[in-house]
Amino acid sequence: MSDLWNDICIPLYEGKCVLCLEPGSHPHHIIPVGLGGTDDEDNIAPLCTDCHTMVHHVGATSMERIIRERARVVRKAFADGN
Ligand SMILES: [Zn+2]
Ligand SMILES: [Zn+2]
Repeated sequence: MSDLWNDICIPLYEGKCVLCLEPGSHPHHIIPVGLGGTDDEDNIAPLCTDCHTMVHHVGATSMERIIRERARVVRKAFADGN
């Protein structure tokens, strides 16, 4: 898991939670591995402990769309040099 964090979450998101922008700690699979999700960067988004707990409480599949949208916004902000 630390590889996903260091290879994807730090360089693409500066390790920030895509939902609240606090320092994150979990490389979350947007599509769960059990449902065919991969370790590809397009399926990984950093989340903090609180948001990660919430996402899995609500259900990763019902949160998929909003996390994908938030990940796109956060990545774009960093790519633009915010
Ligand atoms: Zn997760
Ligand atoms: Zn968060």
